[in-house]
Amino acid sequence: MSYVFAPAQAVAVPVVGSSEQFPVRRIYCVGRNYEAHAREMGHDPDREPPFFFSKPADAVLYVAPGETGEFPYPSLSKNVHFEMELVAAIGKGGKNIPAESALDHVYGYALGLDMTRRDLQAEAKKLGRPWDTAKGFDHSAPLGPIHPVPAVGHVEKGAIWLSVNGEEKQNSDVSQLIWSVGETIAYLSTLFELQPGDLIFTGTPEGVGAVAPGDLMKGGVDGLGEFSVRVV
Ligand code: MN
Repeated sequence: MSYVFAPAQAVAVPVVGSSEQFPVRRIYCVGRNYEAHAREMGHDPDREPPFFFSKPADAVLYVAPGETGEFPYPSLSKNVHFEMELVAAIGKGGKNIPAESALDHVYGYALGLDMTRRDLQAEAKKLGRPWDTAKGFDHSAPLGPIHPVPAVGHVEKGAIWLSVNGEEKQNSDVSQLIWSVGETIAYLSTLFELQPGDLIFTGTPEGVGAVAPGDLMKGGVDGLGEFSVRVV
């Protein structure tokens, strides 16, 4: 097979404890999946069905443990927000997956940031337009390595937190997810056939806020360590 130009390299991130990489296929994201965040965004946190948006796979900005990732402040926004999230990495595909067996489809978990041009998102909401430019811009998905389930188990509870320049901004617990990881996988798989390599950003807790160039974000989830990302 020859191409008219070299195809883009596969997006892949390291797997903790392995020399092999996890190839990323798609990035799905859940909106408003913690009650207090739904409220801070002006919504009734009643258990309405989950809703989804996506980011392109090459929005991944890999952040190695112990190093500081560099997130380039995106163009055309004056209000860029952090959203610290637990990311579920799919290892086994499927559609119409029952919630009871949905966790069997998870290969592992990672730390993720759903970076957001909040001003563009607000405008899109007001005008009924898509969120792509607010959510799916280049480098909008800082991501740590994948921790395989056999090593860390399923992440169903534990602190999720983020600080900026040493000041705590987000601090909740994964058990506060409105739709659990299993329920989210089950619901998402009724809309799309999931495939190995898909990532699911499971939603952010309350406390989202803006960052500026120079700011240092540190985020973590119990059991998955922490990562550091500087806005440049
Ligand atoms: Mn989010």
